[in-house]
Amino acid sequence: MCASGDLSHEFECFGHISWNSCSTSAPPTGRGRFIDPLLADFELVRNWLTFCCKNHTRDCTVESGDPIRMFQLIDCNSNKIVTAIRRMKYIALSYVWGVHSSEDALEDGKLVWKHLPQTIRDAIKITKLLGYRYLWVDRYCIPADPRLKHTQIRKMDIIYQHAQATLLGAAGKNATYGLPGAGTRCRKTQRAVEMGQHKLFSTFARPETVIKQSTWMTRGWTYQEAMLSKRRIFFTDEQVYFECAGMQCSE
Ligand SMILES: [Zn+2]
Repeated sequence: MCASGDLSHEFECFGHISWNSCSTSAPPTGRGRFIDPLLADFELVRNWLTFCCKNHTRDCTVESGDPIRMFQLIDCNSNKIVTAIRRMKYIALSYVWGVHSSEDALEDGKLVWKHLPQTIRDAIKITKLLGYRYLWVDRYCIPADPRLKHTQIRKMDIIYQHAQATLLGAAGKNATYGLPGAGTRCRKTQRAVEMGQHKLFSTFARPETVIKQSTWMTRGWTYQEAMLSKRRIFFTDEQVYFECAGMQCSE
C-alpha cells in the first residue's frame, strides 16, 4: 500500500480501517502509511476509542457499575494499588507473564518501578497516553487474601467486560518483552522505496495473522477473557491493532 505527500484528513485521523457490516455507524476509510517502529501513534488510538465510545452506543457500551467486591486498580499517577470507588473507569491488561525471574515489585501497596517487568511499565505509560488513570493487572490487583483471591480469579471475565478497553500483549514470550510501540521495544520496519516525489511503503501482514502466531494466543483462557472486553488494543511486533464490535483499525 502506498503513502504519499497528499495524505487525506481521514487517513491521518484514522489510519487503516474496516468495519463490520452490522455496524450502524462507520468512520471514514483510510489507507496504509508509514509506521514509526519505536512509538505507536497514540493520538490515532485515542481517535479510535473516541469514535467507538461516541458512535457504537448499541454494541460497544461498557456496562456501568463496579465489577466485583474489593476491586483494586493501579493508580498510574502514583503507582499505588487503590481500592476502586464507584464506577472508576479503567483499562485492563491481558499478557503472558511467562517464565522469568523478577523481584516482587509490590511493596507496601505501591509498585516499585525498577522491579516491574517492561510489559507492566509500558501498560502504565499507555494507560495515561490514552487519557485514563487506572489500570487493572491481575498480578498486582488481585488481593492476597485467599478467599478474595479465589473469588476474583473466578470473575476475571467480568473484570474484562467492565474495562473501557483491554491492552493485549501479542508479542514476546513473557512480561519482560514489553508492549511494542510504547517507546522501548522496537517494532519491525516497513520496507520503503522512493519514486520521484512519492515514497512507497510495504504493508505488514494482516494483524489477525500475526496475533494468531503469538504466544499470547496460545493461552486459551487469556484469549477468551480478553475477547470479553468491548474494546481490544493489540500490540504486535508490527503495529497496533484495534478491534470492537463495530470496527477494526490498524496503524
Ligand atoms: Zn466500537
